[in-house]
Amino acid sequence: MTRLSAITPSGHAHIGNHLGAIRRWAREGGPGDLYFVSDLHAMTVSYNPTRLRKLSRELLAVLVAAGIAPDRVFVQSDLVRELGALSWLLECACSFGEASRMTQFKQKAEGQGVVRLGLLTYPVLMAADILLQRATEVPVGHDQTQHVELARSLARRFNSTYGEVFAVPRAVVAPMASRVMDLSDPSRKMSKSTQGAAGTVFVLDDPDLVRRKIRSAVTDGDARLEYRVAEQPGLANLLEILAGCTGKSPVELAESFDSYGAVKEAVAEALIEELRPLRARALSLLADPAELDAVRAAGAALARSRSEHTLASALRMAGVG
Ligand code: ATP
Ligand code: MG
Repeated sequence: MTRLSAITPSGHAHIGNHLGAIRRWAREGGPGDLYFVSDLHAMTVSYNPTRLRKLSRELLAVLVAAGIAPDRVFVQSDLVRELGALSWLLECACSFGEASRMTQFKQKAEGQGVVRLGLLTYPVLMAADILLQRATEVPVGHDQTQHVELARSLARRFNSTYGEVFAVPRAVVAPMASRVMDLSDPSRKMSKSTQGAAGTVFVLDDPDLVRRKIRSAVTDGDARLEYRVAEQPGLANLLEILAGCTGKSPVELAESFDSYGAVKEAVAEALIEELRPLRARALSLLADPAELDAVRAAGAALARSRSEHTLASALRMAGVG
């Protein structure tokens, strides 16, 4: 089994990414699994090249610092030639109707003046990410299951038209319980790409900043200290973050406090401890560019060597290359 998952450098990694994805990848990942920084996916909307490069390095350092084996991590654009080639083969196996039916495309295209063609075709690039590495399981959120379905269809279609080349992947949807909400608006998911960082705790924030952000988290008018997600989403979010750090249940935790202030202090301290080793390792990697370059090169070399045979076979069967 090969599990493949990615994180897009659309912003700094936050505690939702850590508790909901990165920490699980580090703990549960098997020896065949692969995790990558999907910098090519960040180009589908307007972006700044200098910032993208910096964020990609930062995310790579965070993945390794979180404990994912360095040889199981890579940066997507290090395989840009291989992915570009496979993406083209898959675009020619994908219909325009199929691509334009993607819900995420419709949603993301709506608010934009100029819609980049890459926003329409990036699910095909994502199929290339998956099929190139022969991934069998793709852990995703609900918003990405349609894209994994597309990768399945394209793999099957290519295999039946030109010959068996690709492993057919399946989506694995993580339970929703692990969703961290924005601290300044608990009705909204904490996200890298949200403007304004007040409601987002980044994994590399220093302890004082973490404390300040948690202290200013919105809480609900109702002063009951109970875990009630619908009625008190602000408190529930804090209790879930604390549960994520301590392994205790949010209900049990709610009973152990007598004020909102005490809950916030406990959340801040638990988070600071949770992030301390990750932050220290990531900062030391970022301070040693040669070391980070070596990690990056080794990850890219492994991912490339894993993909060589599949790409060569796909090109040959399609009658090119
Ligand atoms: P963007 O705003 O660019 O979509 P994001 O913060 O939603 O950024 P993604 O790159 O879309 O992050 O997702 C990376 C991983 O982090 C995915 O596995 C996703 O399920 C997980 N994740 C993202 N946000 C949260 C959150 N608030 N709580 C728990 N898990 C999250
Ligand atoms: Mg997202």
